[in-house]
Amino acid sequence: MTGAFAFLSSAPARACAFLKPMPNQVLPFDQALATVLSHAAALAAPTATETVPLLKVAGRTLAVPVLADRDQPPFDRSTRDGYAVRSTDSGSPLRLIGSIRAGQRWQGQPLGPGETIEIMTGAPLPAGADAVVMVEHTTLEDGLLRVEPTRTLRIGENFVPRGAEACGDQIVLPRGRRIAAAEITVAASCGCAQLEVFEQPKVAIIATGDELVELNEQPAPWQIRNSNSYALKALVTAEGGFGGRLEIARDTRADLFWRISGGSMWDLMLLSGGVSMGKYDLVEQVLTDFGAEFFFPGALIQPGKPIVFGRLPKRGSFQTSETGEFSVPDTGPWRGEWTYFFGLPGNPVSTQVCFHLFVAPLLRALAGRTELAPQFVEAKLAEDVPGGAKVTRFLPAELTSAWDGVTVRVVGWQGSGDVAANARGNCYCVLPIGVESFKAGETVRVLLR
Ligand code: AMP
Ligand code: MG
Repeated sequence: MTGAFAFLSSAPARACAFLKPMPNQVLPFDQALATVLSHAAALAAPTATETVPLLKVAGRTLAVPVLADRDQPPFDRSTRDGYAVRSTDSGSPLRLIGSIRAGQRWQGQPLGPGETIEIMTGAPLPAGADAVVMVEHTTLEDGLLRVEPTRTLRIGENFVPRGAEACGDQIVLPRGRRIAAAEITVAASCGCAQLEVFEQPKVAIIATGDELVELNEQPAPWQIRNSNSYALKALVTAEGGFGGRLEIARDTRADLFWRISGGSMWDLMLLSGGVSMGKYDLVEQVLTDFGAEFFFPGALIQPGKPIVFGRLPKRGSFQTSETGEFSVPDTGPWRGEWTYFFGLPGNPVSTQVCFHLFVAPLLRALAGRTELAPQFVEAKLAEDVPGGAKVTRFLPAELTSAWDGVTVRVVGWQGSGDVAANARGNCYCVLPIGVESFKAGETVRVLLR
């Protein structure tokens, strides 16, 4: 047994071939985020793509831009129910000569002076007309249309000219765009029944801890149910990744070794727990055995201070089982690629805050997306909050967006294990390092989730 496997034998552990010294500097929040963002931005877009039907493509990332297949709108489209008119006809009553509904086109002569044609929303403007007057602003009697005297007919009013939204062959959806309802609408309107998207990044989710039990087991009073794997799977899916929950790793070097070995052929490995200072927090040591390169061993944040970010050589090739949930470990050679990893602190709120701050940007880059950074908004504090912390805090909070402003209220909590408080909130209120106190009405940043 050699290299990274050495410690499994009774012989003393030998340093692994690509062992790098562990940086010991816990970074301030902004530097930790900048570190992740610089790695994320440097990642090349995924090479593998696949074609996915429009009905299944939500959440994926576009690999090939979508072009308009014709002008949009394809004709001068009325935006109102009313009457097609010539703007030069202002003032005098107009003779009604016909009607056009959506899905039809006017087949008579072009609109002449003193004439009008009834038109419905979505119908094409007849030749000769250059405005639509809303039905609400007219009266019709004996085939003569009168427009309210206070209304002048303005050229271009109440219709969208052909090609004003997009011209044929123009890019309407760029590569790297995450696909949601708005993008699906555009694709459908361009006749795309399927889209070429990047393959999903494969994310190994490994919960660690001797106290953890799975949901099909009855926990003893001193045991804890593994909730992090489920949360991480949901978060990974929401960011367009494929999350696979590997078996729980126990707090021994041997067990962590085999789990990390399995995880080290995925694109990203998310470990939860085992990164604090405890006697059985062995995750960093075992990552080191694998030749991990560490970018930071912690960040000055609360919750989540012990977060670890790095990468290790990717091993073998990725395989999924028939259930699509499991990887088959392969001890093949290093392919010159990296498996990025985050060692996330095990407390569930810490795990989730760290996901939103650090994991999501890297995952977006691995998915081929171009917008990477976490999303913050500003809001007014609803109540005073004590400050003075030596870390940047991200406290579970409730954001209320009302007509007269956006406010944020920090929810009461028992600390980073308080999953109920986390679920009572809908965001995290950011309290910068060092500020003595925060007063009601003050503007603060809020991390969206
Ligand atoms: P650790 O980071 O391993 O020191 O764990 C910190 C706290 O988080 C402990 O109270 C653990 O029981 C809890 N914890 C660790 N992993 C999980 C998990 N997968 N699900 C729920 N709680 C966890
Ligand atoms: Mg633990």
